This record gives sequence, structure tokens and C-alpha cells, in this order.
Amino acid sequence: MSSINRRTFVANSLKAGVLTAGLPLITKAESWGFGSAPGALQFAQVKLPYAYNALEPHIDAQTMEIHYTKHHAAYVKNVNDAIAADKIAFTTEKEFFANASKISAKAKNNGGGVWNHNFFWEVMKPNGGNPSGKISDAINGSFGSFDKFKEQFSKAAMDRFGSGWAWLVSEGGKLKIGSTANQDNPLMDSSELKGTPLLALDVWEHAYYLKYQNKRADYVGAFWNIINWDEVAKRMA
Ligand code: MN
Repeated sequence: MSSINRRTFVANSLKAGVLTAGLPLITKAESWGFGSAPGALQFAQVKLPYAYNALEPHIDAQTMEIHYTKHHAAYVKNVNDAIAADKIAFTTEKEFFANASKISAKAKNNGGGVWNHNFFWEVMKPNGGNPSGKISDAINGSFGSFDKFKEQFSKAAMDRFGSGWAWLVSEGGKLKIGSTANQDNPLMDSSELKGTPLLALDVWEHAYYLKYQNKRADYVGAFWNIINWDEVAKRMA
């Protein structure tokens, strides 16, 4: 596979959340150290689904551009460097994160950084509106009402001390709210919060400081205007 084709393939595979077709499936940690791993996972950025200024005034264009082109891009470079240096041979994101406790901090933190941001960009859009249909029913069923859900999710985002993420996840048919530190996510074996991620909010200062400075609550409040509920619903099993 040429590097361009490979890049496209990997990007599409990441977007689809699955890697298939012809790649050797190496699942054991003992497989590491065998030299080059031609089928090994490579992380890539999804294309931003909107312009840098599309989420204004809730997220400003400068924050968006720096976040995507500097922070997110750096996680991609760093995780792929770590995969090569550590000879990590996992072929799927699922395997990679299921073994997060066994890989290097560089691989784990930057792999989480790539995945979390790809996820984050896709669950936002201009003029997000309110949830409807099955996601609305699931939220009402699990939290009582949309307002109670908003309150709990906002609290998780506010209570995360330092850098991290707030999450809505689905586990065993139930929706749950929680948060993770740094670039951890609910797919990691090391994460206390587990489940299928449905919605995420980046609460690192780099996500809001240019516009909101120390006022994380204002940023969390603004987030409710830009959620892509169709994408959230798609992630429900
Ligand atoms: Mn971020």
C-alpha cells in the first residue's frame, strides 16, 4: 500500500471505527519487539467537519484552528512515533485502548489525544439544537429529564480538576456520565469510567482559555448550543 493510500485507508478505518481486510491480527503483547509491524495501527486526524469559525461565538475560530492544527496534530505525530519506537503491533483502536495500561505513557496519552479529539470534532456542529428521538428517550430514561442530564454532565465537566474530559457513555443499555483525566477515555482498560462513548467535552484549558480565560463554566454552558445530536445518537448501540 502506498503511503497516500495507507493514510486514506487508515483515516477511513478510524472514521468507521474498524480496521478489517487483510491486515494481520496480532493481539498479544508478546508480539511486540518483532521488528517492523507493517499492519500496525496508525492514527490520523479526521477532517474537521466544519470551518474553524463555524462554531462561533461558542468556540472561537482561533481556538479551533490552534486546537486542530497544533494540539491535535501533535498527538498524531507523537502517537505514531511511539507506535514505531515501541513496535506496537495492535491493528485496531479497540485493541490499542484495551491494552492502554501495558503500553508506554507516550503511546497511551497521545493515542487518547488523537481519538478523543476526532470524536469531539464529530459530535459538534453549528446550531446544535436539542436531542430528539431515541437519544432523547435514552437521556430521559437514564437521568429523568434533559435538564437533569445537562446539570450532571456540566458538573462532571466542572469537577474534573485540571485537564481532562467529560463523557456521556452507554453501558449495558444504560447511559452514564463521568470524566477522565488528561487524554484518558472510556475505551481504556485503565479508565475507571467505561462504556461506549456517546458525547465528550474537552475541558483542557487549551480548549477554551483564549475566549473564556478561567471561566470554564461559561465554556461548558456554551457547549449546549453546538452539540450534533444526530452524531451522538449514531453512537448508541
Ligand atoms: Mn484538546
